[in-house]
This record gives sequence, structure tokens and C-alpha cells, in this order.
Amino acid sequence: MKIKSCKHCGEQFNLHSQRKQEVGGYINECPDCVEELETETKEVIRAFTTGDGKMASIQILKFEDKEQAILYKKGWDQWSGWNNQRSGSIHDVRFTKIGENSGNSNHKGKS
Ligand SMILES: [Zn+2]
Repeated sequence: MKIKSCKHCGEQFNLHSQRKQEVGGYINECPDCVEELETETKEVIRAFTTGDGKMASIQILKFEDKEQAILYKKGWDQWSGWNNQRSGSIHDVRFTKIGENSGNSNHKGKS
């Protein structure tokens, strides 16, 4: 559980709540404001796959706008396996990871 203050109304909310996950929006916006101000509509959601075969995982990422998403996609194509080589402009792209579907069902052990 992670409590953040909303930049719009100042209310505190749980960043990891189910409602926040559903409505999306920025990290510092409460679900109510995201819905009311419709901040989520400006954002772009893309899914990327890593690895192959049964170990493949899907990462669902949310970008602030289309340009960021395109930039990220370019980097992704260019540096396949960029997870292991932490270099390149891909890390300058601002995004939020909203979901991950890993081939390894035992992912809970990581956290
Ligand atoms: Zn708010």
C-alpha cells in the first residue's frame, strides 16, 4: 500500500488500490480526479513482449502521450534485450508500468 497526495484536490489515496489501477492517470492524481478531469484519455497504452516461448512476458506500459510511446517502441526494437544492457535513451522515456504478464507464474516470490 502506497499513500500519495492528489495534486488536484490534495486528498490522500492509495496508489495501489484497485480503483486507481482501473482508472489510471498520473501517479499523483487520485482516482476521483482522474475520472472527473479525464486525464487518462490523453495517455497511450502499449503492450510489449519480451523473451520468447513459454518464458515470454508481456509488459503493459502507459505513456504520457503518443510520442513517448513511439519513442519507447523505437528503443525497444533497437535494443532487444535492453533489460540486460542498461544504456540508451529508452530510459529517458516516461512511462508507467500498469501490468505485466510473465511466463513465470511464481512471480510473487520476487516482491
Ligand atoms: Zn484528487
